[in-house]
Amino acid sequence: MTNLGSLSRQGKSLATLIAASGSFLIGMLLPMEIWTNQQTTTKATTVKTATSTNTKQINQSTNNKETPLEVIKISSVVAKKINNTKQELRELELKTFNFSVPKRFQSQTVKNVTLNSKQKVISLTFDDGPWNNTTEQILDILKKHNIRATFFVVGQHLNVRQEIGKKIVEEGHVIANHTWNHPSKSSKMSPDRIKSEIGRTADLIYKITGRTTNLFRPPGGVLVNGLADYAKERKHTVVLWSADSVDWYYRSAQKITKKVLNKASNGGIVLLHDGGGPRGHVVEALPNIIAGLKKQGYEFVTIPELLTIKDRELHQAELAKKREVKKQETNAQEDKE
Ligand SMILES: [Zn+2]
Repeated sequence: MTNLGSLSRQGKSLATLIAASGSFLIGMLLPMEIWTNQQTTTKATTVKTATSTNTKQINQSTNNKETPLEVIKISSVVAKKINNTKQELRELELKTFNFSVPKRFQSQTVKNVTLNSKQKVISLTFDDGPWNNTTEQILDILKKHNIRATFFVVGQHLNVRQEIGKKIVEEGHVIANHTWNHPSKSSKMSPDRIKSEIGRTADLIYKITGRTTNLFRPPGGVLVNGLADYAKERKHTVVLWSADSVDWYYRSAQKITKKVLNKASNGGIVLLHDGGGPRGHVVEALPNIIAGLKKQGYEFVTIPELLTIKDRELHQAELAKKREVKKQETNAQEDKE
């Protein structure tokens, strides 16, 4: 499964590369065609300059008194095309790679990350779906606010609502593993059962969405029954939460909104439920939760995005530390001399 997932990822990277290169070529060739059509009277030497894909050279050719206006036009078309291509690449990247988790978080348990950045981010997570009506209502609210979230699905629920599972991924969200049967007891489970709870769900997620998940949330947040250990063996990140809406207990939209807003933190993970029972109050609360968090200055990210932001922060700190050590070594060396 791991090999299969990695192969699939490689296939996807290749597809992305081909798509991006194709788009880039079209982007570059289209303005050239406009150029040659418009410039029938232009000297061959000028055309030569313009067919170069180097924007700097095109800008330089604007000094040529014969066709300055046209060249400026072409130059801006090329710049616009490059920008569009960059945007397409970013979107492709988000669609294709938004499931990858930085290495340092593999086989780790995470309940939040503490961020030093001024930019405040938070992750909404939804458990126990897909569920009739509520999951799609939640998807519609998220779409309306242009927010991406992480859905920890239960295998047997996904099995009977495959189309909703597909929709979760198609709309840019992350789908993750929450076992097949949702066992939440603390007592140790048999190795076969553990393997099946996680493996069967992972296989179905892959079959339906083409995605290999490396995020696992143990039912009830139980870490001692063997499920979390097995997930870590599979290099999964075990994802808990820092802001529990307690929506499984309180059936009031006001109460769960208050719970989330009180416990929100920079780098926090919010626990909500889209399935596993009647979740109308979650659907009702979600717009208020989003509005309240936005008011507190939060931006919304998926779990892999959250971990990537923390990873970058740690990486920067490591680099700064290395530079500091080097500086001290140089100073010591100079003192000696
Ligand atoms: Zn659950």
